[in-house]
Amino acid sequence: MSRVVKKIIGLLERILLFFVPFRHGIYVVNYHGTPESVKHLFEQHLDFYNKHFRLLDPETFEAICAGRSQISSKPMLLLTFDDGMRNNISALELLSKHQILAYFFVVPNYIDAGKKETYLSDIIRPGFVNTLEKFPEDFLPMGWNDLEKLHKIGHRIGSHTMSHTLRKEDDAIKSAVEIINSKKAIEQKLGIQVPYFCSINNTALSVGKLQEEMIDATYDFHFTTYYGLNQPAPDPKRIQRINVESYWSLSEVCFSLGRIRTLLN
Ligand SMILES: [Zn+2]
Repeated sequence: MSRVVKKIIGLLERILLFFVPFRHGIYVVNYHGTPESVKHLFEQHLDFYNKHFRLLDPETFEAICAGRSQISSKPMLLLTFDDGMRNNISALELLSKHQILAYFFVVPNYIDAGKKETYLSDIIRPGFVNTLEKFPEDFLPMGWNDLEKLHKIGHRIGSHTMSHTLRKEDDAIKSAVEIINSKKAIEQKLGIQVPYFCSINNTALSVGKLQEEMIDATYDFHFTTYYGLNQPAPDPKRIQRINVESYWSLSEVCFSLGRIRTLLN
């Protein structure tokens, strides 16, 4: 579907919001980079979420998953960020302004890569060009020191595989490196527990039966790229997410979160 069509449907969704709220349930949104040039749009998203949702912090989300807390009658929304881009650091002040804590999923081999920009363009997102990205932090990952600070603030750090190359055809040895060794690497570097895993690209293509069993045995939470609303309660081993990018207009955000898109699914 083209961006224009999404914007038109999204605009209708925004008008609909004057009459009907978002559907009941937990919306887990996943972002990637947050370039400086679109910070104003990202802040609009946060204002919009604040108005229409009850923003969830990781602790409450995990309590709901464990059955220790209830889902509110107001739609709930949780933020996650994939790939651990360095430009996420500049988004932190906006997150703290809105008192938002989020999940950040990182790739140890990208963090430790010699040529990080090439790692991003060749391995993490080959063929993807975003003209809004201009500064070094748009192409570099956060370092271990940055992640340590994030964790101290209360954000959660999770594994986004070891190298961002996991495929469902991979054998047990390669899968173990991606799934199990990435957890160990982050835990050793940061001295924290990492019960959170986020599969890469399209979960249907990166996670087969073998990988799913390994993820379930290693982690308490699996954040997927399966689109959808988590209702009536989230399944911690199969958390569905909705992709939103920081450079999108509010209409595009509304399209992704809206009734038409979620009901089509
Ligand atoms: Zn990714």
